[in-house]
Amino acid sequence: MVGDARVAPPGGERGPWLPRAPRGGAVAAAAVRAMAVAAVELLVPRACVACGAAMGALDRGVACGTCWSRLPLLPKPWCARCGHPVAREEQACPVCAQLDPSCSGARSVCWVPHRQSSPLLAALKYQGWWRIADAMADRMARTGRSLVEELDAPCFVPVPLAPARLRERGFNQSERLASALASRLGGKVLDDVLVRVRATVSQTQLTPAERRANVQHAFDVPARRSAAIRGTPIVLVDDVLTTGATLNACATALVRGGASDIRYWTFGRARSDADRP
Ligand SMILES: [Zn+2]
Ligand SMILES: [Zn+2]
Repeated sequence: MVGDARVAPPGGERGPWLPRAPRGGAVAAAAVRAMAVAAVELLVPRACVACGAAMGALDRGVACGTCWSRLPLLPKPWCARCGHPVAREEQACPVCAQLDPSCSGARSVCWVPHRQSSPLLAALKYQGWWRIADAMADRMARTGRSLVEELDAPCFVPVPLAPARLRERGFNQSERLASALASRLGGKVLDDVLVRVRATVSQTQLTPAERRANVQHAFDVPARRSAAIRGTPIVLVDDVLTTGATLNACATALVRGGASDIRYWTFGRARSDADRP
């Protein structure tokens, strides 16, 4: 359904092109709206939100099968701890050294930025297509299940957005991914145990050192929520692992709040300096 998977625009759940319901006659009004929805669907073919191609009969969700099939998956073998591609499994991994000591494992699905994965993430983060998180979580569950398989009831903690960003976007993309993972794997989402206590600027243009400084002390666990995480393995969920600065800052706050075993789970992962030719 057109617009169905997108965050509801302000002023109406289906956007501005639908007629307002006339006064009285609720049934008639519903029929008018249903006809209008059907007309819009006839006039506007469903297109992939990432590449713009018409969706095939077998395509589900909001992105086409071709986009998903061309994802630049992280090639194996992976580092046993952080899931980063390495030449040999026993090789010392350059990425592990960047992760907080409390991080017992990390997994991601594919490289970013990349011409195939970046448009899918942009659809989630910047274009309001939050339902694409379901298809991303399917792939995360396939490649990263080892992160949670020994846990009875994983606790998924999404990386929180700043309140202003949350108001502007209408949803937290990490929370959408965490909820989709919990619905597939069991466990629960704890979206109030980690809060942003300081505004940060966008990380995209910053150097690794600037990223660390930008997010240092930006997160905290409210004292009243410490009991919920004490001694509990925590699965931190974010859309992308770049330098690890944000996830590490979250892990530091969770450890301060009483957690001791943190795992990082993301859809995308940036190449490290060692990966570049
Ligand atoms: Zn596509
Ligand atoms: Zn590693």
